[in-house]
Amino acid sequence: MLRGTAQNPDVYFQARETVNPFYNACPACVEKAMRRFERVVGRKYELFQYEGAPDAERVVLLMGSGAETAHEAVEALTEKGEKVGLLKVRLYRPFSIEHFLAGLPKSVKTLVVLERTKEPGGPGEPLYLDVITALSEAQAAGKLPCAAMPRVIGGRYGLSSKEFTPAMVKAALDEAAKAAPKNHFTVGIEDDVTHTSLTVDDAFSTEDPKGVRALFFGLGADGTVGANKNSVKIIGEETDNYAQGYFVYDSKKSGTITISHLRFGPRPIRSTYLISHASFMACHQYSFLERFDMLRYAEPGATFLLNSPFGPDSVWEQLPRPVQAAIIQKRLKLYVIDAYEVAKETGMGSRINTVMQTCFFAISGVLPRAEAIEQIKKSIVKTYGKRGESVVQKNFAAVDRTIDRLFEVKIPASVTSTTELRPPVPAQAPEFVRKVLGPIIAGDGDTLPVSAMPVDGTFPTGTAAWEKRNIALEIPVWDEKLCIQCGKCVLVCPHATIRAKIFDRQQLAGQPPSFKAVEARWKDYKQLAYSLQVAPEDCTGCGLCVQSCPVKDKSESKRRAINMQEQAPLRAAEAANWEFFLGLPEFDREKLSVNQVKDLQLFQPLFEFSGACSGCGETPYIKLLTQLFGDRTLIGNATGCSSIYGGNLPTTPYAANHEGRGPAWSNSLFEDNAEFGLGMRLAVDQQNAYARLLVQRYAVQIGEALAEEILKADQSTEAGIFEQRKRIVELKKRVQGWLAVTTNGVAAACRDLLAVADSLVKKSVWILGGDGWAYDIGYGGLDHVLASGRNVNVLVLDTEVYSNTGGQMSKATPRGAVAKFAAGGKQSAKKDLGLMAVTYGNVYVARVAMGANDMQSVKAFLEAERWDGPSLIIAYSPCIAHGYDLVHALDQSKLAVQSGYWPLFRFNPALVAEGKNPFVLDSKAPALPLEKYIYNETRYTMLVHSRPDDARRLLADAQADVMNRWRIYDQMATLPAESKAAAEVPAH
Ligand code: SF4
Ligand code: SF4
Ligand code: MG
Repeated sequence: MLRGTAQNPDVYFQARETVNPFYNACPACVEKAMRRFERVVGRKYELFQYEGAPDAERVVLLMGSGAETAHEAVEALTEKGEKVGLLKVRLYRPFSIEHFLAGLPKSVKTLVVLERTKEPGGPGEPLYLDVITALSEAQAAGKLPCAAMPRVIGGRYGLSSKEFTPAMVKAALDEAAKAAPKNHFTVGIEDDVTHTSLTVDDAFSTEDPKGVRALFFGLGADGTVGANKNSVKIIGEETDNYAQGYFVYDSKKSGTITISHLRFGPRPIRSTYLISHASFMACHQYSFLERFDMLRYAEPGATFLLNSPFGPDSVWEQLPRPVQAAIIQKRLKLYVIDAYEVAKETGMGSRINTVMQTCFFAISGVLPRAEAIEQIKKSIVKTYGKRGESVVQKNFAAVDRTIDRLFEVKIPASVTSTTELRPPVPAQAPEFVRKVLGPIIAGDGDTLPVSAMPVDGTFPTGTAAWEKRNIALEIPVWDEKLCIQCGKCVLVCPHATIRAKIFDRQQLAGQPPSFKAVEARWKDYKQLAYSLQVAPEDCTGCGLCVQSCPVKDKSESKRRAINMQEQAPLRAAEAANWEFFLGLPEFDREKLSVNQVKDLQLFQPLFEFSGACSGCGETPYIKLLTQLFGDRTLIGNATGCSSIYGGNLPTTPYAANHEGRGPAWSNSLFEDNAEFGLGMRLAVDQQNAYARLLVQRYAVQIGEALAEEILKADQSTEAGIFEQRKRIVELKKRVQGWLAVTTNGVAAACRDLLAVADSLVKKSVWILGGDGWAYDIGYGGLDHVLASGRNVNVLVLDTEVYSNTGGQMSKATPRGAVAKFAAGGKQSAKKDLGLMAVTYGNVYVARVAMGANDMQSVKAFLEAERWDGPSLIIAYSPCIAHGYDLVHALDQSKLAVQSGYWPLFRFNPALVAEGKNPFVLDSKAPALPLEKYIYNETRYTMLVHSRPDDARRLLADAQADVMNRWRIYDQMATLPAESKAAAEVPAH
């Protein structure tokens, strides 16, 4: 048998029509299956299921989860005597007209079709069109179930999972009652551009008064969401209550707010929308209180649990005024716990999830306290058992200690605080940042009207600088006397929140009192001042900068030239220092060397304050890229972590320099990003070719000397590029002048030249993405682009898993590591993407690990960019998915290289022309057993606990992989240069 024939016009049409009987039979088959399901499970489904008044005149029609919300609304309205109904669509396409007509009440006068989709340019959304067609056909055939043709209106709701509430359903049904209702309306947004939206009465609520509604505000990756999922399981499985959980995140990688919405109650829960009136509220991060008006969600008499560094006697005075006011007005019960302290004491580090979960059970009353504790402990064994007994014991200790440290706060009668909530962005931020990005940061993005959205999808850059997240508990403090000004800390900081400048001493006039500056330790710039400054409100407190510092205080060996200290007391003064620091001029790039870290640290990064995880191993490479190639960088970014922390609303870390120029960035899909980046290259090349043509054609008018200099410019160095930029400024000036006086057809050419003149300055095209993109889904395209021979640079941020989606295995996952889809440890070896690319011969390839050898990384970036052909850099990127505190990322990078797991190499085809071997090994032979590296990471040790035999076998195989790869690399590095090999071609 054979399937998949190529069919020609003679038979294709007939072949398509063979399927008709199956489509015709499908509704009956589904109906039969639904009846069987009902017999087995007891829950009834129909193809078109009607709910509501039997004599309904207004009927809303929709499918999917929104139908449950509509069910609640219709139930509440019919109880009040309204003649409304709901037709739930359970089978959409094949659309059974017969069943649809049978489902409609005979009394229907107006049908409201609600859809969670948009068909731009179409006469209506798909379900609306099907309904209109069905009714028209029925009328023509005289089969209408009702006396007259019902009026049909359609509307859109809930795109991209936007909130959809019973109040919105009511608004749609209210509209249907009007004499001239809006058709093609929207509900749930404010459309102030084409005025499609309906007005919603937010006071309309259908919540079950007997249920518990709990809201938890946590910090991304602090374990809040996991603990809440666990609570839902405990309550759902161990009590008679029904339980439901919704988890709302923004798309920052971590270190941002997560809101868990949990409902528990004796009745089945149909509410497929978020909680707006909570009976229990928990704030897991004290700093959120200063920024978010979270108590607006608390209902009167609710319980409020706060993780607070301040105890029950002192916390009240610390609360902002609106928080105090809400607590008093709503008569909230307030409990505090210092969860970080408990976590620290019990060896849990900064993992506060178990502590906060215990508090919830202790005071919410959902379960008797003793029973709840027993259940939590059971689930601890289930969740952490694989990680070893000590992890379980630490969690147990945290549970026990929590109860003693949880206190109710006595609420004073009046508001005493004078502190207000901090605005989401400072008042001096640009208008767009204040009016559009600010509300999104504050969690009020839903309130922005259509007119606030940029119509072409472009957003300003440099906006992360306005989002002062204040998530670090501790920040680095510079000891200017110990510092040797090596710049390592600046280089390793994943968030660009520690920076150095050298500048004229006179610039220090007006410095804030605690601003520090010392004599610059540069041979040629001793007369200048040096300052190392931290952005206190942007730093994530990852501690990597301190780890990188090579200086140790002789009198106190733990002390370095930068040391972590509590953020809160330093915040105000350091924020002023940072502002002052930003005002200091950037040092002239031309005078700095790209060949040493000491100089490189002074280059302005155009990627700062990203929302990547604290300590992320990917972002230092991107920051370096923007420091090296600055505003002439174009980036095509594959979807994944780097696109999320790179181009995620509300803010972006890509920034502009003082001239207002920065990298140009756009994101494309996993499966086509390499091709997308190649497209950027082709576009730039095309513009460049056209610009050159125009410069040649109009050389006389431009000035022949300038035209020739432009066309022959050597842009292989920073200095050469700098000169060319000056020429282009002059060129534009001349063309502008010429345009002002010309009246003939040359004007069009002038305008064209002005539009493309900037492409005469060398551009640096980078294609960025993770291993999920480069090794797996986008590999075909990547290979195609590498084979194109075009001048593009590919940077693979290799975290060895799909980090953005929770750590699924990719072909970059190493043998023996546990990942999602590799619960028993990955059985095969990591694909050697670098070696595969080397076989092309004309592709520059480097394998780098900045934490192990920073200058090798820098060299690779510079050489890759210089190579006039395709380049591929594979960058070792520590990630939270590896399961260790990223403060040790630099040590782990070193061990990866020393063990031979991650050999560093550069394959530079440019060396062939010099008669040299293009393959250069930058690291030494394996000097450590692999286990010394891998067993510092939970992704490997998990297997040792869960399947020790497999772990042993995989370790032995992985060690063999290391030795074999080294053998191959070593041979390649010691091969005779290619020119000699070519001389050895056998004679005929
Ligand atoms: Fe100073 Fe240490 Fe930073 Fe070097 S790494 S500049 S010594 S703080
Ligand atoms: Fe950067 Fe981390 Fe140091 Fe803060 S603690 S300055 S985020 S390296
Ligand atoms: Mg990855």
